[in-house]
Amino acid sequence: MPGTVSLQPTAIPIIDFACFGDGTSPEATEIGKQLVKACREVGFAYFRNTGIPQAEVDCMFEWSRRLFSLPIETKLLAPHPKEGWKHRGYSGVGREQISQMVFDPTQLAEIRKQTPDHKESFDIGRNDCPHMSNVWLPEEVLPGFKDAASAFFDTCRRFEFEKLLPALSLGLELPGGGKFLEKYHQQAENQLRLLHYPAVPAEVFARGEKGRIGAHTDYAMGTILFQDDVGGLEVESPHGSGNFVAVSPIPGTVVFNIGDFLMRWSNDTLKSTLHRVRAPPNDGKLEMIKERFSIPYFMSSDRDILIDCLPGCWDEDRPKKYEPVTAGAYIDMRLDATY
Ligand code: CA
Repeated sequence: MPGTVSLQPTAIPIIDFACFGDGTSPEATEIGKQLVKACREVGFAYFRNTGIPQAEVDCMFEWSRRLFSLPIETKLLAPHPKEGWKHRGYSGVGREQISQMVFDPTQLAEIRKQTPDHKESFDIGRNDCPHMSNVWLPEEVLPGFKDAASAFFDTCRRFEFEKLLPALSLGLELPGGGKFLEKYHQQAENQLRLLHYPAVPAEVFARGEKGRIGAHTDYAMGTILFQDDVGGLEVESPHGSGNFVAVSPIPGTVVFNIGDFLMRWSNDTLKSTLHRVRAPPNDGKLEMIKERFSIPYFMSSDRDILIDCLPGCWDEDRPKKYEPVTAGAYIDMRLDATY
């Protein structure tokens, strides 16, 4: 595949949280340092032993299959609100576009025409979110789905709050011994997204008519991604722009990447890396490219707290590059631009 180089085994580090405990041990600090090194150098990592039970992950993929196999009229009983920033409910194939060029509306229209992303999604937030309600299917359509998805949202949230945020705080040597980032993430402003990329004829990809998802960076604090075994996720190589390396599925791991908001907060010390989903590896024999399921969990900082450059990420030689901003203002600007 042009523009793609094969994965070097060490290109994307694997961080093992097995010994993280409650975040107070020297081992936990070491894990935090490995994580921050990965964020500086690659912007991506695999996580192992997150404490998120594999059975729960498998179960969520099963719910996702059941949801997306419903007839389209049924799925549209939980329609994504028309406001682009309200990421809740069902979006059909081709509706949402993610692009790096979103700040220029004329370019966006052109990009939409050229490369419709071929995917459908269902977005879920926290159930008591004050500014954005969940949009659920009627319970009788898919009994148990709401409870299962809500529970999985909470499981991911626990990982974020109990391990990820402390590890980042420790690795960045922020004041407060692992507690620093906690106070900026009290509200669980997170988004669980079930994603389905339908099967398509291989020739469609070969002609470049459709990508699975175009190259983009994530805009919030960070993302953890559960992927099935189909493959196709690629991340821009840290060793040269324009080349992408495959983020091949590794059983028992979850993929992590940081988003633009954390990059800005860290004065660009940490790297929010361009990534995309293309057709999975195909030796030319398959006529249809297999469908793919993935489940990203997007994590955002609390909307109303003004953030300034993180301590330790600036000094006389590295002045602050950005004005303080609230996560809410920053995210709204980015979300509005993706529809
Ligand atoms: Ca992404």
